[in-house]
Amino acid sequence: MSQVDRSHQIDHAVALLRAGELIGLPTETVYGLAADANNALAVKQIFLLKGRPADHPVIVHIADSDSLSDWAQIDTDQVWRLAEAFWPGPMTLVLPKQPEVDAGITAGQQTVAVRVPSHPVAQQVLHQFGGGVAAPSANRFGRISPTRAEHVRDEFGESIKLVLDGGGCEIGLESTILSLIEGPELLRPGSISKQQLETVLEEPVSFSNRLSQRAPGLLDRHYAPRTPAWLIAADDIAAQLVASDVTQKRVGLVQFSEIDFECTMVERLACAPAGYSQQLYAALRRLDSAGLDLIIVERPPVTPAWLAVNDRLSRATRPVV
Ligand code: AMP
Ligand code: MG
Repeated sequence: MSQVDRSHQIDHAVALLRAGELIGLPTETVYGLAADANNALAVKQIFLLKGRPADHPVIVHIADSDSLSDWAQIDTDQVWRLAEAFWPGPMTLVLPKQPEVDAGITAGQQTVAVRVPSHPVAQQVLHQFGGGVAAPSANRFGRISPTRAEHVRDEFGESIKLVLDGGGCEIGLESTILSLIEGPELLRPGSISKQQLETVLEEPVSFSNRLSQRAPGLLDRHYAPRTPAWLIAADDIAAQLVASDVTQKRVGLVQFSEIDFECTMVERLACAPAGYSQQLYAALRRLDSAGLDLIIVERPPVTPAWLAVNDRLSRATRPVV
């Protein structure tokens, strides 16, 4: 796309936001379904279109940390150290909210989640728009987050007027969420690691209960394909296929190692976490639309480097031992 076309598109996007419309917005993590965060009706439209329950707060995106205090109360200089280190980038901070922040954004809580995305298109839109933009992932509630413009069109078709095409998302997984409400607490792992946060904070970061108390059977289905999906260690895949009598079925496989199985469809992803993350959601979407009976995901290593991937896979799949 030429510079002129791009700048027309940004103008159009900003005009739509000002008019209270929703747009598809590329970020470095995933594509967002974006609306003016100061327009309660527009924010409500996000929830309606996604089918998102009203008790799920949304993240406010801003152009730079200069406007952070419009949204959040900042009572520790840890905030500025984190902002300096990781913004623009895939870190979301949960902070005490300013009184005027709409309850629709915060789901009635006294906290607000804010992020400065680094994607050049998101940066242009946010700078030109000037205000905050509420933008959860541009998918129906519980489904796989979009990492390409066409994924957003597949989800919402004509119900949104514009999807800005910013290419494939560089990170491919949702942002790391850190709460600073009761000491630093990791609410969602992402590409910025717990250890990177601890280095900047110079204090330990705890895992939220939501992360540490997850047990099989209690998993919330989220980021999930419609096709049944099983998470299986490479060594167990062959035996499971036989034991479950799925050999006659149409099976898709997501793998990253050198394993070799007869499957209807194979998605071979990078063997390191960054590349794997970038490719995962697009691969799951391809498999999910292929009319398969089952998707098997090769279980990645359980190490800190794979924490965010394992978190998403634990919601997208059912563990099979
Ligand atoms: P997303 O689905 O990517 O828009 O991220 C939403 C997630 O951010 C929520 O599920 C919460 O974990 C977190 N979050 C957003 N807003 C708040 C808030 N006001 N207080 C606490 N956590 C929040
Ligand atoms: Mg989401």
